[in-house]
Amino acid sequence: MSFNYESFEKLLKEIKDQNRYTFLRFDQEITEDKERLIYLRHDIDISPYSANQLGKIEHSINIKANYFFQIGAETYNIFNKSVIDIMKELYSIGHCVGLHVDESILGDSENKLLSTLKWFKECITDVNFVVSFHRPTNTNNKKFKSFINVYQDDFFSPDLFLSDSRKNEDFYPKLLNLLKEGKSPIQLLLHPAWWYPEEDLAQFKELVVKRRVAELNSYLKKNFQNIKRYIKDEDSNFGL
Ligand SMILES: [Zn+2]
Repeated sequence: MSFNYESFEKLLKEIKDQNRYTFLRFDQEITEDKERLIYLRHDIDISPYSANQLGKIEHSINIKANYFFQIGAETYNIFNKSVIDIMKELYSIGHCVGLHVDESILGDSENKLLSTLKWFKECITDVNFVVSFHRPTNTNNKKFKSFINVYQDDFFSPDLFLSDSRKNEDFYPKLLNLLKEGKSPIQLLLHPAWWYPEEDLAQFKELVVKRRVAELNSYLKKNFQNIKRYIKDEDSNFGL
């Protein structure tokens, strides 16, 4: 299996049409007798732009997925207008949009996390009350009263959890086995940036750096007239 937007779409169709699985949002009520369920989760660690691509593909084939954005990412700025617009777009087409929480900064106290979700929803843009932890300390499966943790027991069991972490293809044969056996509920974590169609990881890294530099340059150009002349015009539309 290769990593690109075409193979992503093919994978989803394989799960949905060939294996007759239903894709769910984490905050969706389920009837008890429902079988063959899958939670498709996207943690956005690198690229909101590739998340937007995946969201459109899913929408075109009538699939709901779950997106988690980081407040303190080094690779993108969640308060950038284009990122907020992507969150709004994903939310409006029916995906679940929550926060990807760095426990080492925010901790895992219910009050703090709830305040963060409320503040974000009221002051920035609509989010659903669902969180996924970024690099959780021994998989934080704490169950909270006021919001959903995707690692709580209802959604997460190590045997039914698969991920494309480090752009590793190993999840694919394992997933096919679970689908064949009709196991449920499966939680599949796919990181949007890995599906951006650039196989060479050195090139991939260059593109992320270039996009970040272009964003900084564009900010400096707009806000500091006296250094504007030192900044070359450049394309900032990288899609990654
Ligand atoms: Zn993460």
